[in-house]
Amino acid sequence: MIIYLAKFMIADSSTVIANSYNKRQDHLAERVVRGDIMSSDGHVLATTNVAEDGNEYRYYPNGNMFAHVVGFSTYGRSGLELSSNYYLLTSNANIVERVRNSVYNEKNMGDTVVTTLDYNLQSTAYNAMGYAKGAVVVMEPDTGKILAMVSKPDFDPNSIDVIWDSITDETSSDKTILLNRATQGLYPPGSTFKVLTSLEYMRENKDWERYSYECQGETVVNNVAIHCYNNTVHGTVSLADSVAFSCNTSFSNLGASLDTDAFHSLCETFLFNKDLPYSGLSNKSSYVLNGKSDPSQIPQTVIGQGDTLISPLHNAMIMSTIANGGVMMKPYMLDHIENYNGDQVRSYSPSAYKRLMTVRETQDMTELLCGVVDYGTGYVLNTSAYSVAGKTGTAEYNEKGESHSWFVGFSNVENPDIVVSVVIEEADVSGVRAVNVTKQIFDAYYQ
Ligand SMILES: [Zn+2]
Repeated sequence: MIIYLAKFMIADSSTVIANSYNKRQDHLAERVVRGDIMSSDGHVLATTNVAEDGNEYRYYPNGNMFAHVVGFSTYGRSGLELSSNYYLLTSNANIVERVRNSVYNEKNMGDTVVTTLDYNLQSTAYNAMGYAKGAVVVMEPDTGKILAMVSKPDFDPNSIDVIWDSITDETSSDKTILLNRATQGLYPPGSTFKVLTSLEYMRENKDWERYSYECQGETVVNNVAIHCYNNTVHGTVSLADSVAFSCNTSFSNLGASLDTDAFHSLCETFLFNKDLPYSGLSNKSSYVLNGKSDPSQIPQTVIGQGDTLISPLHNAMIMSTIANGGVMMKPYMLDHIENYNGDQVRSYSPSAYKRLMTVRETQDMTELLCGVVDYGTGYVLNTSAYSVAGKTGTAEYNEKGESHSWFVGFSNVENPDIVVSVVIEEADVSGVRAVNVTKQIFDAYYQ
């Protein structure tokens, strides 16, 4: 049995939010009515209601559904309320109107922030997760546009002042509720990490297509006992079969041959131990194995257990790199800014982070990831309605074998449309599986 503790690292969310409080921009609120935040398809996600007495109230029409991604703006700020604060408190209203407002000492209307978020995909992801804890990220691999971002457990930003004391109390069971697990939650990647292990193996072994291993359901590598899920005996497996069946014994075997310094360097190239090129709050994923590590660390690390931790956004970015022919795009969520009359003020364009794989490597990897859905652990996603390439993951976090459930993959394999990254905490408890959540999101996209 592979046994380890889930190291679900949570920053103290109340500190993060308190530090983000920006007093310098707040004087703008004395002259401007905070603008709206919109989805890409015209749904209002945040707006300001002005009462008869002139008091302003921030209102979130969708309540909990966009809680983390849109955030809140009382008791400090979070989410888009934080990252787009400046635009929301800037007015590009008609100049005549602004002059008039200044004469009558009235406030100007703040600009509208139009996001890349898709209401339909967000609501589908939100509902598909049910009461399970975890996170979903949906992004376009060729642009980096984030289409949906869900984190659970959630809260109603309309009642943040009512729930604030209870959720920021140190002893509260809900103290991670304000945290956006999609970008700040760090999880063991489980078998989704086999994508990078495979890439390193392919780079070190040009004849990787001739790889063959006899899986007997369990083995011992570097004095560490490794078993396949449910001790399933996979028999003779190629690298493609090893990925499709997520064969732990095979991966531990091939992983033991890897140059651990080279693998460490590959992981850092893919942004482990680095800040993500993303404007919102995020935590660094971590990867520690290197040439100086004890060899007993290798078998678990190469199958995504061990000390490795990753955020759902980061996993989406790695899969997007494969879907986008090797170029990682910077993820972003602001599409454009307009004044309150709808005239565009500025717009944002996709921006590449870096080429991390050759086109040939992404083609080979895509073929391996198609096998997962064609005849492997992701068969639930096998449908004639659309094609999917991706990787499942089961990250055990206790001795009983209870686990987090992962899926990361993309649809329309020939010309990829969207990447979906899903993690469900304690999947055994909730009964929710990441592949099933993913299927509902793809179904909604192609409906
Ligand atoms: Zn196996």
